[in-house]
Amino acid sequence: MAPRLSDLVDGDRLWARLMALAAFGARPDGGVDRPALSATEAQARAQLIAWGRAIGLKPYTDQAANLFLRLEGRDASLPPVLAGSHIDSQPTGGKFDGVYGVLAALEVAEAVVKRGEVPARAIEVVAWTNEEGSRFAPGMTGSDLFTGTKTLDNVRAIKDADGVSVGEAIDAILAADDGVPLRPFGLPLAAYVEPHIEQASKLEEAGAPVGIVSGIQGTRRYRVTVKGEAAHAGTALRRDRRDALMAAVQMIGAMDDAARQPEDTLLTVGQMQVTPNAPSVVPEEVLFSIDLRHPDNGVVDRMDAAIREIVAARQGVCTAQLRQIQHSPSLTFPEAMRNALTEAANALCIPCMDVYSAAGHDARQLHYVCPTGMIFVPCRGGISHNPLEWAEPEHLTAGTKVLADTVWTLATRV
Ligand SMILES: [Zn+2]
Repeated sequence: MAPRLSDLVDGDRLWARLMALAAFGARPDGGVDRPALSATEAQARAQLIAWGRAIGLKPYTDQAANLFLRLEGRDASLPPVLAGSHIDSQPTGGKFDGVYGVLAALEVAEAVVKRGEVPARAIEVVAWTNEEGSRFAPGMTGSDLFTGTKTLDNVRAIKDADGVSVGEAIDAILAADDGVPLRPFGLPLAAYVEPHIEQASKLEEAGAPVGIVSGIQGTRRYRVTVKGEAAHAGTALRRDRRDALMAAVQMIGAMDDAARQPEDTLLTVGQMQVTPNAPSVVPEEVLFSIDLRHPDNGVVDRMDAAIREIVAARQGVCTAQLRQIQHSPSLTFPEAMRNALTEAANALCIPCMDVYSAAGHDARQLHYVCPTGMIFVPCRGGISHNPLEWAEPEHLTAGTKVLADTVWTLATRV
């Protein structure tokens, strides 16, 4: 029997690259601050390109500044197998979120090179642009553009806190690239696999080094504007008031009650702006956000209806307007991809379990254009988006081995 590709995965090299990439945007507390499309991300990108070129991978990019490192297959006309994640971070990011997926994919490409046997399909390592959405909101810019979920016109005008637009930042990154050709969006793909730290603690609690991700929880986001009338807190009688904050509080209380069933419904009001926000003035206007999540789309639909009804019913003497700004349904990854990952783990005797992703990933966008799967590895205490984020080298290696054998199976199958 031919040796497995995973035998050629070098966990030490993977770890060394993770630590090397963490130097770009390193924080004094051990974390990473590497905003999307920033100068520090450009440096990390140049390092990735250099590592790729050193083993014979050819870099490509596109108008979203997504980075692809391609290892050619025997038949260039066959759609490639893609694996990776992102290298941007939250301002209080860690060393592993996103980067692990990209470097695990690079390690797999290097293992294929070492093996010396060319698979039928090309294998590409990908780093998607602006997954995090902290410098430019919302995130998933690169995968949204690649899959056609959004267009360049939608996103190029979005600005960061300093007034720099996505378009300007992309142009700067592309100008700094050293001889990296541009490709159009939407290249046909055979499959996409994204390894990532779990960002929750189910794997750690179960003692499983690898999770096969069954799906991604959906999210709906809303903004509610309640309009009342400003008045003197000492002289305006209660019966004459149109208090926007009191109406908003009624709505939020009723939404919280409605979200009690089922108990794993997550409803968050994380932002509120009160105008004029003065202690002695009856609030004239309130803007608040709603973030709604549940794995079951039916539950989300019912809560959606409840939210709309509550906003209409509780506005009282004020007027309220609800605007939905995001609708990402919960999704289940195809069984064939989950089975391929599970079989790879089983063949390697690496304990694995099915886990559900409560957080969004670029794999969500890819799911709609090609067979997609995800591998999770544990992170200590489930801590992420935090300098304390930590993953054990042996878990990272285990996830990369599962990725290697899965990618090999996908790339040799035509
Ligand atoms: Zn991530």
